[in-house]
Amino acid sequence: MAKYIFVTGGVTSSLGKGIIAASLAKLLQARGLKVTIQKFDPYINIDPGTMNPYEHGECFVTEDGAETDLDLGHYERFLNIFTSQANNVTTGRIYQTVINKEREGAYLGKTVQVVPHITDEIKRRMLQLGKSAEFDIVITEIGGTVGDIESLPFVEAVRQLQWELPEEDTLVIHLTLIPYLRAAKELKTKPTQHSVKMLSQEGVHPDIIVCRTEKELTPELRRKIALFCNVKLEAVIEAADAQTIYEVPLLMMREKLDVISMRKLNIVTTKEPELSKWKEFLDKLKYPKYRVTIGLIGKYLELQDAYKSILESFIHAGAMNECQVQIINIHSEFITDTNVAEKLNGLDGLLVAPGFGHRGVEGKIVAVKYARENGLPFFGICLGMQMAAIEFARNVLGLKNAHSTEMDPHTNEPVIDLMEEQNAVTLKGGTMRLGSYPCVIKENSLAHKIYGTTSINERHRHRWEFNNKYLADYENAGMVASGKNPGTNLVEIIELPSHPFFVGVQYHPELKSTVENPQPIFVHFVKAAKAYAEKKSETKSPLLHGELN
Ligand code: GLN
Repeated sequence: MAKYIFVTGGVTSSLGKGIIAASLAKLLQARGLKVTIQKFDPYINIDPGTMNPYEHGECFVTEDGAETDLDLGHYERFLNIFTSQANNVTTGRIYQTVINKEREGAYLGKTVQVVPHITDEIKRRMLQLGKSAEFDIVITEIGGTVGDIESLPFVEAVRQLQWELPEEDTLVIHLTLIPYLRAAKELKTKPTQHSVKMLSQEGVHPDIIVCRTEKELTPELRRKIALFCNVKLEAVIEAADAQTIYEVPLLMMREKLDVISMRKLNIVTTKEPELSKWKEFLDKLKYPKYRVTIGLIGKYLELQDAYKSILESFIHAGAMNECQVQIINIHSEFITDTNVAEKLNGLDGLLVAPGFGHRGVEGKIVAVKYARENGLPFFGICLGMQMAAIEFARNVLGLKNAHSTEMDPHTNEPVIDLMEEQNAVTLKGGTMRLGSYPCVIKENSLAHKIYGTTSINERHRHRWEFNNKYLADYENAGMVASGKNPGTNLVEIIELPSHPFFVGVQYHPELKSTVENPQPIFVHFVKAAKAYAEKKSETKSPLLHGELN
């Protein structure tokens, strides 16, 4: 039987509950415990798949094809494990299950209510992952902020579980903010006191309070928080702002978050956390020897969270190359034939991002053309790969009207077309090609060199595909389909052997990059950008352009 840790949040949203949960999980995992994390989100959508990135940031996709909250990406990147549909539950999904059961007659004769029927379903799902012997500890992050109407049933479920399970099998951590008032030159604990009071009124008392703060918590402040929030002094944990999220596990270790958690859960281990690989990564990240500049061509650039996994993949791949990867966001809508050289000036590599709909696609196509013609390392992901295929069709194969039927349903050159099975799809939620699919790689291709194997699995989230009717024309003109789905022959990877680095992938490689296993295409793309930067500098100055001093 596993033990359960619940993480709630107070005062404000965006305090980084996911990072605190993932950091604690990392420390416990580094002590030899088997840990997983799940997130319960209080919104009514069945999953975030139908939300636009401006609403909810990136939609993270798991191996089993679940469209989930981006915090699951942090869990996977920190823990180097796979999560699944079971790791992300929303209010919508809970209600859907209960309502379906009601229609089936499972509650015949009864009035179906929030308590106990909704809370029972929440509890069932909270305990689910801990039922197998697979995990010693299940951490549950409760989305939203304590005091919100919609998170009440989740807090109530935690209250009931604390009552039902043995004392040493549950632990509640509350993450709050200790704001600094510049005018008073003081950190303020009152919002935290109120938030803990609110949580207590809902029946849950935290065992540990993690305090986000810009300034150091003095011993007096810690005492004050402990006294007024009724927790042990040692259970007041400082979470200072960190330079990078990857430093947070070490900050939490210094604050003994893992030790105090294990004490409450009655877990005895003499093993100290084994974090040598993590620290090695952190060292490389903090003290890079080189720098490259990569242009990220997308359309949700105002929001960092929209391309979260891509940005994190660059951090992993950069560290592996001892290279700082500076990302320049470039709005595809504003790129034209006349300004492209100026817009992409100074870049060492170009990444064309995933996306949906027609806004900004022509700018992406112009950017791909520039990269192809100028030997600038290019990496296209999903829509980015489709844009590379369209660009090649228009400008190399001479098919001027080439397009994707997503943007131009009546094009007479549909080089990107809807998959057969997608034609009949009418529902929007969860109906894309989702999750992990196999891909067979052509021997001696660049993809083969990158992956070091001919058989891979990568995750998908799209409806449109490369149209195989045009494949022979592409290959005759020098573009190689170096990865294909073995069952359906769908093209998964395209590359240009005549170019220093030109790779487009229909899948989402960024979803599988972790600190311990940086994604190989990102690693090689950064390496290619480094080589490009060096070559550029040789022609300009004797100093290595990419080298930091
Ligand atoms: N809109 C494209 C499709 O559905 C690409 C999707 C994506 O980039 N994730 O095929």
